[in-house]
Amino acid sequence: MIELGDIQDARSRIKGHVLSTPLVPSATLSEICGTPVALKLEHCQTTGSFKLRGATNAILRLTDGERARGVVAVSTGNHGRALSFAARAVGARATICMSRLVPENKLSEIRRLGADVRIIGESQDEAQEEVDRLVCEDRLVLLPPFDHPAIIAGQGTIGLEIIEAMPDVATVLVPVSGGGLAAGIATAIKAVRPQARIIGVSMARGAAMKASLDAGRPVQVEELRTLADALGGGIGLDNKLTLAMCQTLLDDFVLLSESEIAAGIRHAYENEREVLEGAGAVGIAALLAQKIAGLRGPIALVLSGRNIDMELHRRVVAGVNEPLEGVV
Ligand SMILES: *Cc1c(COP(=O)(O)O)cnc(C)c1O
Repeated sequence: MIELGDIQDARSRIKGHVLSTPLVPSATLSEICGTPVALKLEHCQTTGSFKLRGATNAILRLTDGERARGVVAVSTGNHGRALSFAARAVGARATICMSRLVPENKLSEIRRLGADVRIIGESQDEAQEEVDRLVCEDRLVLLPPFDHPAIIAGQGTIGLEIIEAMPDVATVLVPVSGGGLAAGIATAIKAVRPQARIIGVSMARGAAMKASLDAGRPVQVEELRTLADALGGGIGLDNKLTLAMCQTLLDDFVLLSESEIAAGIRHAYENEREVLEGAGAVGIAALLAQKIAGLRGPIALVLSGRNIDMELHRRVVAGVNEPLEGVV
C-alpha cells in the first residue's frame, strides 16, 4: 500500500517539474453551502490536469534502462498528455493507446508532444489489449493511469498541499475514475487529519469505481459518452491497489447526471471565471445539486482538469437546452 512517506518522497522528487497550485476561497459556493468552500486549482497544472504529478513521479523513478525502452499507457486523454510531456522532458519515448471515445482536442495535444498515438476500439479495455501486446512484444515499460504506486503517490501530493493550506478541512470532494487521485489524496489527508471525510464524485453514466465498490470486486461497466469523458473507462478487472484503497479511505460516493455536470461547468465559468472540463467540474456540481448528506465544512474541492473542447464548452455555458444524456 501507499503511505504518507511515499507521498512526501514523491513531492520532493517532482518539485520543480510540476506547479504547486493555489487553494482559493469560493465566495459563491461558500454562500450557497453556508460554510467555507475552497477550490484547489489543479486544472491550472501544466498540461491542464493533475495527471502530470503522477506521470512525472513515475517517469523520474525509471532506471536508465527503462527510460531507453520507452513507456506505454492506456488513457482517456489527460494521462496520455501528462505522460508524453514528462517522458519528452527526460528524452524517453511514449506510446499512448486510446479508444475512439477520446475527444479530438486531447488527441492533438498528445500528438503535438511527439508521442506515438494508437487509436484502438470503442473502450479503454480494447485499447488496453494493445498496451499489453506492446509490453509483451516490444518490452515497453507500463505506466498505467491510476493503478500504480508511483502514480498514486504523485497524485497524493495534492492532498499534502490541501492540508497545509486548510489544516481544519472537514470534507474533500474528489473526482473519481480509476481512483488514483482519490486514493492518493485520501492517504495524505487522513494520515494528518483522520476525521476529514473524503467523498468521491463520478458521472452516473458508467461509474466503474462506484459499481466496483458496491459489488466488492472490480466490475466492468459499459463505457458511454459523457461530459466527464476523463472519468470514463474501467478500473481493471485485475485492479491491485485503487479499489482496496477507495474501499478503506472513501467515506461517501456521489453520482451526477449530465445536466448536473453541465451546471457545474457553467457555474465555474460564470461565477468562478474558470474553464473546466466535465470531470473537473463534478465537485462543484455535487455541491450545487445538494447531493451530499450531512455535509460539513470547511470544504475543499479538487478542480482536476480543463481540457474541454472549446466548442462544447461554448454550448454548455450558453445553456443550450438540449438533452445532454447520450448526445455529448
Ligand atoms: C484522470 C482524471 C480524473 C480521475 O482520476 P483517477 O485517478 O482516474 O480517479 C479526474 N479528473 C480529470 C480531469 C482526469 O483527467
